[in-house]
Amino acid sequence: MKARAGVVYLVGAGPGDPGLITARALELIASADAILYDRLIPAGVLDGAHPEADLVYAGKAPGNVTMTQDEINTELTERAQRGQSVVRLKGGDPFVFGRGGEEAEACAAAGVDFEVVPGVTAGVAAAAYAGIPVTHRDEASAVAFVTGHEDPEKPETALDWDALARFPGTLVLYMGVKNLPEIARRLIDAGRDPGEPAAAVERGTLAGQRAAVATLGTLAQEVERQGLRPPSILLFGRVAARREEIAWFERRPLHGKRVVVTRARAQASGMARTLETLGAEVIELPAIRIEPTIDSDEVRAAVESLHSYALVCVTSPNGARLLFEAMDTQGRDARALSQAQVAAIGPGTARALREHGVIADVVPERFVAEALVESLAEVPIEGKPVLVARAAEARDVLPDALRERGAEVDVVALYETVRETPAVEEIEAAAGADYVTFTSSSTVKNFLEVMGGRIPEGARIVSIGPVTSATAREAGIEVTIEAGRHDPAGLIDALVEDAGDQ
Ligand code: SAH
Repeated sequence: MKARAGVVYLVGAGPGDPGLITARALELIASADAILYDRLIPAGVLDGAHPEADLVYAGKAPGNVTMTQDEINTELTERAQRGQSVVRLKGGDPFVFGRGGEEAEACAAAGVDFEVVPGVTAGVAAAAYAGIPVTHRDEASAVAFVTGHEDPEKPETALDWDALARFPGTLVLYMGVKNLPEIARRLIDAGRDPGEPAAAVERGTLAGQRAAVATLGTLAQEVERQGLRPPSILLFGRVAARREEIAWFERRPLHGKRVVVTRARAQASGMARTLETLGAEVIELPAIRIEPTIDSDEVRAAVESLHSYALVCVTSPNGARLLFEAMDTQGRDARALSQAQVAAIGPGTARALREHGVIADVVPERFVAEALVESLAEVPIEGKPVLVARAAEARDVLPDALRERGAEVDVVALYETVRETPAVEEIEAAAGADYVTFTSSSTVKNFLEVMGGRIPEGARIVSIGPVTSATAREAGIEVTIEAGRHDPAGLIDALVEDAGDQ
C-alpha cells in the first residue's frame, strides 16, 4: 500500500547493502511526498523516490549537526499536518540507536498518525556478513545491543559496566570504535575475560566491508593496526571466533574485483546487481542512454498497419518494451500482432515480449542478427510484408538478408542510443578497474569516448560476443574473454570463470 497523506512513516533502510531493505520500505520511498533521510542509508535508494518528492537531508555528518532532533520532529509533524505523506528514513532499524522512539513520541504528542517499519539492524547484519552468528547453540544464548558512544570515563555514564562484564552472551556495540580502548579496559577491569574472542566489522554488508578478529584484550591494537574506522560494529563473545570458518562474504567469486559496467543505465542495474551479489565492486559507467523515438510518423504508421505484416522482428528487450508502449499510445494491444509471426533476437527479447502477452515464434540460439536470419530460413516471407523494429543505429544485416529473400521490408527505429557523460569520480574509478565489460559495439565506442581513448591499465576486457569483440579489436582493444553465451548472464559466467582462474 502506498504512503498515505498526513501520515509519518519511521522507516529502517537496513545496514547498507541495497538488497537488505524491506519491501515495505521501498513501497513507501516510491510513493511518499517527502523523505527526511540520514547519512547511513543504502546508496541509490533515493533514486526510487517519486520524481516530485521533497528530499531533505536530516543526518548528522560527524561533528556537523545539520538539523537538531527538535527541528526534525517539527519538520515531520508539520509536513504531515499539511497533508503530506512523510518518510523518515534511517540506517538499520529506526528503534535501535536511531532516535525513532523520540520521533514516534513527537508524532503521538502532535496527534499525527504514524507507522514504524523495522529494518535489518547493523549489529546483526554486519556480524552475519562477517561470518559471526550473534547467538549460537553452543556459544551464546543471549545477545545485548549496547551503545559505545558514551564516554566510558564519564562518571554519569548510563552503562553498567559490571553488569556488561557479567553478561552471559554476546555484546554488540554500536558507535564504539573510537572509544574501543576505554571500553575494553572497562570490561576487563570489571572482570570480563581478556582472552575472550572479539571482532570489529567496518562498513558491514557493503562492498568495502573489512573485519578484524582478536581478543577483548587485543582488539583495540588490531583495529588500530588495520585502521578500521566508523561506521563499525564491535562484537565481544565466543561467537567472534566462528568467523574463521563461517566468513562467506570474502569468499564470493568476485570479492574485491572492480568491474566496469557500460550498459545504458536502465539495463545496467540488473547486471550491476548480479555482479554485486557475486562480490564485485561495480563501477557503473552509463556510456549510453536509450532515447525513445516512438513519436515519429514512421513508428505511428507501422503500428497503424501492424496487422498487415506477415513477420515482425524485434531485435532487443528495449525494442520489445517500446513497441508495446507505441502500440499502447495508439490504443492497440497484443491482438494487433495476431496475424504475424513474431521473431525475437534472443531470450531476453522473447522474455520482454512474453511480459506483454506475446510468445515469440522464432528465437535463435545465438543472439546475433546473423543467427536470426538463419532461424528464419523456414519462414515463408517471399513477397510478404515484414517489419523490423529496432534501434536507429543498428546494422543492416537482418533487413538486407530478408530483402534478398524477396520480402518487402519496413524498418522502424524505436529508439536511439545516445552518449551519457559520467561524473569525473566515475571515470577515475573506471581507470583503476580489474574488469571492463562490453555488452554491445556501441558500449565499446562510447566507453572509448568517455575515457578519452584510455583503456584502464591491467584491466581484463570481457565482451558479450563476436560482433562486440570485433569492434573492440578494431579500436585497438585486446579482448581478454569472450562470453560463450551472448547475453548478460553468459558474460557474467565467463567473467566469474576467469576470476576463478586468476
Ligand atoms: N539504527 C542503526 C544504528 C544507528 S547508530 C541500526 O539499527 O543499525 C550508528 C552506528 O551503527 C554506527 O556507529 C555503527 O556502529 C553502526 N553501523 C551502521 N551501519 C553500519 C555498517 N554498515 N557496518 C557497521 N556498523 C554500522
